[in-house]
Amino acid sequence: MAGTVVIGAGLAAAHVVATLREEGDTAPITLVGDEVDRPYERPPLSKGYLQGSASRESVFVHAPDWYVTHDVTTRFGTTATRIDRSARTVALSDGTTLGYDHLVLTTGSSPRVLDVPGSSLRGVHTLRRLSDSDDLRDELARPQRLVVAGGGWIGLEVAAAARLAGLTVTVLEFAAQPLLRVLGPEVAAVFAELHRAHGVDLRTGVGVDGFEGSAGRVTGVRVGGEVVPADIVLVGVGAAPNVELAAAAGLAADSRGVLVDAHLRTADPAVLAAGDVANAHNTSLGHSLRVEHWDNAIRQGALAARSILGRGDEYDWQPYFYTDQYDLGMEYVGYADSDDPVVLRGDPASGEFLAFWLRDERVRAAMNVNIWDVNDRLRELIGRRVDPARLSSQDVPLEDL
Ligand SMILES: Cc1cc2nc3c(=O)[nH]c(=O)nc-3n(C[C@H](O)[C@H](O)[C@H](O)COP(=O)(O)OP(=O)(O)OC[C@H]3O[C@@H](n4cnc5c(N)ncnc54)[C@H](O)[C@@H]3O)c2cc1C
Repeated sequence: MAGTVVIGAGLAAAHVVATLREEGDTAPITLVGDEVDRPYERPPLSKGYLQGSASRESVFVHAPDWYVTHDVTTRFGTTATRIDRSARTVALSDGTTLGYDHLVLTTGSSPRVLDVPGSSLRGVHTLRRLSDSDDLRDELARPQRLVVAGGGWIGLEVAAAARLAGLTVTVLEFAAQPLLRVLGPEVAAVFAELHRAHGVDLRTGVGVDGFEGSAGRVTGVRVGGEVVPADIVLVGVGAAPNVELAAAAGLAADSRGVLVDAHLRTADPAVLAAGDVANAHNTSLGHSLRVEHWDNAIRQGALAARSILGRGDEYDWQPYFYTDQYDLGMEYVGYADSDDPVVLRGDPASGEFLAFWLRDERVRAAMNVNIWDVNDRLRELIGRRVDPARLSSQDVPLEDL
C-alpha cells in the first residue's frame, strides 16, 4: 500500500495528515514541502510575530516530534516537480519518486509581484513565509519610511505593525478605498479612517509606476509624476494559486485554482486539492470558489482527509476570516458582493459595531468589530430573511433576530 502523499506542507496539509491519523488511518503518509520549516500558521507573520509579541515556536501547527509520533514521513525542503497520474507517482527535487494511492495538493498561493521597473531592488518585500516576516521585522526595528503598495489585508496589517513600531508609513491603493472589493464603501471607509487616525498617509486611486533606487536599494516609489520616498516597500497586491504542478499533470487548473468538487476531488478520484489552491464547489453557496483564509485551510484539510477515507462530507460552510489592526479586531462570516446593501448595528465611530450585507432582504455576510463571542450567531443568520430595521436596532437582542 502506497498510502497518501500530501504536496505542500502548509496549514491545509497539517490538517490533512492530522485528520487522517485522528480518524484511524494506518496507511503510510508522506508530507512533501519546499519550505525547510514544518507547517506553520501565516496570520501571525503580519501581526504578532512581526510585532515581536508572538514567539517563533507559537506559529507552528504541531510540536517538532508530532510527525514522528504520528508516523508521518516528512520531506521538508523538497519540491514536488512532476505528477505522473497513470503511474500514480510524484517526482521530487532530490531525484527520488514517491508512489501514492491518494495525492492531496495543498500547494497554497504565492504573492503577486508588480511588473514595473525596479521591482527587484533590495528593500522591496513581499510577505508569505516566515523568512519574509523575519526580514521585515529587522526593517521595522529602524525608524524608516515604509511604503505599502496595495491596501489589502496584509498591506494594512503591516502598515499597522509599522506605525506601532514608529515608522513613517504611506499606503498606496489603486481603488477608491482600501478593501473596497471585499467590504464595499461604507465599511471600507472605517478601515481608511482607522489608518489615517494612526498617522498613515493613505493615498487612494493611485497606481505604482515603478521603483526608484540607488546602489541596488529602493529609495522611492513612482506614482503618477511623483516619487514617494521609501527606505522599504511592501508589495501586497494579492496572491495567485500555485497550480503549475496540477496543470502540468493535465488536471483542470487555472488562475482560479485547481478545480475540485464538493468532496475536494479533482476529475481524477485519486487526486484532491485543499486550502488556498483549491477552487472548490461549495454546496451552500451553489458555486465554486477559492478562499484564501486560515479557517478554510483548516476545514478543507480535514475534509480532504475524510474524503480519502470515504466519509462523504461536503464543502458546505460559509467562508470566515479575521484581521487585527491596531486596537481593531474583526471577524467576517459569509460571502457577499461589495455592492450588496449594508446595515450597520452600532456606531463605527465607537469602535464597536456589527455589519450585515443583504441581498433580496436575506443576510449574505456579517462582521463583528471589537464585539466578541457573537460570530457563531452571525453565522446562523446567513441566508435568513431579517427585517433591516431589527438588524440595526440594538434594542433587539441578536438571539431574537
Ligand atoms: C502574512 C499573511 C497573513 C495572513 N493573515 C490571515 C488572517 O489574518 N486571517 C485569515 O483568515 N487568513 C490569513 N492569511 C491566509 C492564510 O494564512 C492562508 O489562507 C493559509 O496559509 C493557506 O494555507 P494552505 O495550506 O492552503 O497554503 P500555504 O500556507 O501557502 O502552504 C502551501 C505550502 O506549499 C508549498 N509548496 C508549493 N508548491 C510546492 C511544491 N511543488 N512542492 C512542495 N511544496 C510546495 C508552499 O511553499 C507552502 O509552504 C494570511 C496569509 C499571509 C501570507
